[in-house]
Amino acid sequence: MKPAYKKRDLLKNNLIKRIILSRNLQPFATILAFAPFIFVAVTGIIGISSGAKNFSVGFTWILWSVLLALLLVPFLGRSWCFLCPIVWPGELIQRKLWSKFGDSKLMNMRWPTVLKNVWLQIFIFIFFGIWMVVLVTQPFVTAIAVITLITGATITFILFPRRIFCRYLCPPGLFIGVYSSYAPIEVRVKDRGICLTPSSQGGCNKECYTGSEKGYGCPWLEFPQNMVSNIDCGLCTECFKTCPRDNIALNARPFGVELESKEMKMKSDEAWRAIILLAFPLVYTAVLFGPWAWIKSWGDLLLYTNSVGVTQHLFYIILIIDIVLGVLPGLHLLASRISILLSGTKDISTKELFVNYAYAYIPLGLMLWAGFNFSLIMMEWSYIPVIISDPFGAGWNLLGTTHLPWIPITLPIPIAETVFTFSGVLLSLKVGYNSLNSIFSDKKQTLRALIPFATLTAIIAIVYLWFYI
Ligand code: SF4
Ligand code: SF4
Ligand code: SF4
Repeated sequence: MKPAYKKRDLLKNNLIKRIILSRNLQPFATILAFAPFIFVAVTGIIGISSGAKNFSVGFTWILWSVLLALLLVPFLGRSWCFLCPIVWPGELIQRKLWSKFGDSKLMNMRWPTVLKNVWLQIFIFIFFGIWMVVLVTQPFVTAIAVITLITGATITFILFPRRIFCRYLCPPGLFIGVYSSYAPIEVRVKDRGICLTPSSQGGCNKECYTGSEKGYGCPWLEFPQNMVSNIDCGLCTECFKTCPRDNIALNARPFGVELESKEMKMKSDEAWRAIILLAFPLVYTAVLFGPWAWIKSWGDLLLYTNSVGVTQHLFYIILIIDIVLGVLPGLHLLASRISILLSGTKDISTKELFVNYAYAYIPLGLMLWAGFNFSLIMMEWSYIPVIISDPFGAGWNLLGTTHLPWIPITLPIPIAETVFTFSGVLLSLKVGYNSLNSIFSDKKQTLRALIPFATLTAIIAIVYLWFYI
């Protein structure tokens, strides 16, 4: 069957294939990534308490988050999950130690059916989001966050099989998963017909899911044969190793095609995830770069002063929860209702349209996150040579850059933010138009249905840009 979009299997290149099939690459990359995170924990706990002078804050919230949002996720999808150090100790215990004891109930507990969705992950993400001001200013809190993630992952790996933590709990995974659906790279089977061939007729025994002596069954509980989205594929490369029919491809593809594919299955919890993630760059921008200094001090949940008390901090928490879970989803619900009325359709409910159209916000969200992180690196880049030269803030001067002053580069920010935002709007409207076009019968009806969503998209873009221009 002809593929729905152009793709090219990168494994046709022998060097890439050898690298992907190597069993040494992932552990090596993971250990390399683990070292700075341990250093984040150590510097955060015993280093200076000023976020601007401590490696912990600078590495995590300037270097790592910018690397994720500007490069890895947009261009390489879930590539971070390939080398992620958060899961390393837990996965090591699960694979090397626990397997020696064989199966037991404690090590192989069932994840509750009611939690087999991303709601818990969404709440954990919002919880971390509420602590944002404290995280980006307090090294100790950043260290505790990193230790909590690694410990939480390790406990989950000990109790539950495979990567339950990644699928249902990890907060960075929420961001990485949603936006990886836009990336120009995918893992897919080459030919479903081969997967459907019984083993007695030269097929396989579903080793990609069950595992074999060549590798582990999909740690993300995905069945490659049915996979149509990147969202829950951690790019771990195990299925490349286990498939006995060499039927897995690592495809390069155009940006965003997955969101317009007819195969994509829209799910309600994932739709909420896309809307909530769209709200966060607006919130972060307002708090960190907006004109209201009081919001930032109200968000500093650990530093009570005489003028900022418990009431203000509670107000801040309610405000954030209200925007991400109430205002933006509420506006999207309203747009969905008006869209139904304008199109005059009875073939789809408001709820279904709410879910279907939410995926169209993914390009806009990705661009706003990229824009926010671009401004962050432009404003804060000069802290990086400082924290590398003196990671603990102990008075060292390893590179001779410890006393570099703060040098924000503000000039390109308004232009870059305009480019990011307009690109996000156009790409979102393109995905949205195609999504509506597959629902409605004619172009005029599709365009009428698009009006409320386009208006909401424009409002979000204007509000976001207002903070920068
Ligand atoms: S989902 Fe989270 S913990 Fe899992 S690999 Fe990705 S970033 Fe790491
Ligand atoms: S092992 Fe290979 S051929 Fe078999 S189902 Fe998995 S991907 Fe398809
Ligand atoms: S085994 Fe294959 S499908 Fe599963 S997460 Fe790894 S790369 Fe993705």
